[in-house]
Amino acid sequence: MTGKIGTRYGKHHDLAKRPKPAPITTCYICGEPLGDRPTNRDHIPPDQILPASIRRKYAINFVTRKVHLACNDSFKLDEEYFVHCLIPFAPGTEAGDAIWRKAVTEYRAGKNRPLVNLVLSQAKERVGDVYLPPDKVALDYDLDRFERVVSKIVRGLYFCETETVIDPSTSMTVFVIPPGNDPPDHYKEMLKHPAESKGNHQGVFAYWYVAFDSGVHYWALLLWDKVIITAIFKVDPPPAADATEP
Ligand SMILES: [Zn+2]
Repeated sequence: MTGKIGTRYGKHHDLAKRPKPAPITTCYICGEPLGDRPTNRDHIPPDQILPASIRRKYAINFVTRKVHLACNDSFKLDEEYFVHCLIPFAPGTEAGDAIWRKAVTEYRAGKNRPLVNLVLSQAKERVGDVYLPPDKVALDYDLDRFERVVSKIVRGLYFCETETVIDPSTSMTVFVIPPGNDPPDHYKEMLKHPAESKGNHQGVFAYWYVAFDSGVHYWALLLWDKVIITAIFKVDPPPAADATEP
């Protein structure tokens, strides 16, 4: 399945396939009605995974959903952290190279230095304040922050597909598979199940999932056609669609 991911990068006709969003009355982040509280549109996945230059070049617009402004803002710093954790693994594709260059340029300009330094301080191999080649970096993530963002992305995608909110307290087991690493057995096992690779711009961001009758979900996200992130969780009641026997 991963072989199919990322092969459609830059094909503008994909934009036409985007379904028109239904009127949204619920904030998927907190699960509460939007009501009269201030709102804005949340990008799924976060806009930060791609520089504006590439978004413009390929007319890339990620799916959005209206959410509470406060809910959305509460993720902003963690989303920056999430992206910076993964940038060392990004180079090698057009999208990955672009986000890498943006990070280096910003760092040289003095932007995001505390964040980059924090990320690098968690790297097992590092040289001063210099970005290392991706094969040299192994990060000890702040898992709570990292998983919080993965959970938000998955819950957002789930909401777009089903218009159903996953309870924000639902725990997800998250794995990161950097490029060049042998995937864990659970990932290989899931590749045996049929799953459609989804995403309007799959060279930047793609995902697929397997949903079991038990309510267990296995989701795989692919960023920049380089980094795979998986999330395992259980929903209740189980969805009727795409059910597969474990
Ligand atoms: Zn909310």
